[in-house]
Amino acid sequence: MIIMKADATPEQIKHVVKEIKRHGLRADISRGEYKTVIGLIGDERKIPFTHFAALPGVREAMMVETPYKLISWEYSRFFEGAGEGMVIKVGSIEIGGYEPIFIAGPCAVESKAQLFKIAEGVKQAGAHILRGGIFKPRSSVHSFQGLGSAGQEEAEEALTWLREAGKKFEMPVITEIRGETQVDLVAEYVDILQIGARNMYDQDLLAKAAKKGKPVLFKRHFGAGIEEFLSFAEYIAAEGNKDIILCERGIIPIGKGKSYTRYTLDLAAVPAIQKETYLPVLVDPSHSTGRRDLIFNMSCAAIAAGASGLMIEVHYNPQEALVDGQQMITPEELRDVISACQRIHKLIAPEINKN
Ligand code: PEP
Ligand code: MN
Repeated sequence: MIIMKADATPEQIKHVVKEIKRHGLRADISRGEYKTVIGLIGDERKIPFTHFAALPGVREAMMVETPYKLISWEYSRFFEGAGEGMVIKVGSIEIGGYEPIFIAGPCAVESKAQLFKIAEGVKQAGAHILRGGIFKPRSSVHSFQGLGSAGQEEAEEALTWLREAGKKFEMPVITEIRGETQVDLVAEYVDILQIGARNMYDQDLLAKAAKKGKPVLFKRHFGAGIEEFLSFAEYIAAEGNKDIILCERGIIPIGKGKSYTRYTLDLAAVPAIQKETYLPVLVDPSHSTGRRDLIFNMSCAAIAAGASGLMIEVHYNPQEALVDGQQMITPEELRDVISACQRIHKLIAPEINKN
């Protein structure tokens, strides 16, 4: 990490970046009002820090030894508003701001009518952002893969519905990109790109999505440790996109016998991640529990754990959903979840921010 002097000139910054490139690394430039900080992307052991410290305009040059430096608190210490978590703005919605944010909608978009009915319901329930899967990651090739999998035309049609529903009910929209070939298309229609748990390790997909310059909701793989999760989030940041919303969605359950939950919701990961990075952390109580009767409790618990919001699957009639009906709640139930979460948040927020 190179910290430039407050009066460093653009030429001096350019020179430092050139020197970084000459040593085979890339530079992440963060320009604050008062100072510029340059993060190094690549093997920092190749950098002669004493040489860099002596360059004109440089105040300090130091090695940061974590696999996720660009998203670390240590790096952000030199930004404006140091010590505060990052607030990601999507339209008028602020993720990571004071209020918890609720992303809701169907697991999969099934028809225009289904999507619009759910969109209206979640909006009335108090949701801020509309979700809906168009390319679904599924364990069986024989099950419904999402409308987008039928072809380009079908994908565009479903994406158009999503955009229209968002417009009509005044919510930004999010959908998952399951592979690199979908990135350009999906980015044309949605406000936030979702990278699902199964793709957490796909660094080419991460880089391609990051380059779209839109916020990325990044889900933890069910077998990934926290350090691994953050290390892969760093791939997005390394492309110059720090609008990363992290999402805990459950890890593989342990032990023999029936688990009673689809995954194990790792709620301690929320404050643990917050100690490491300034990025906001959301929780998905739907995929983690796989049970609609656990959503209320685990949503409340997630907010109590300090999550910046939740992603919840909703359907007006879960029984008829093509995917994940067992974990979907109704818009009426969502209203209760949101109301309880908001009350909990109000109670604990001042204390949580002190820790
Ligand atoms: C989803 O949110 O639609 C989804 C498939 O979740 P995950 O990637 O966490 O399994
Ligand atoms: Mn689902």
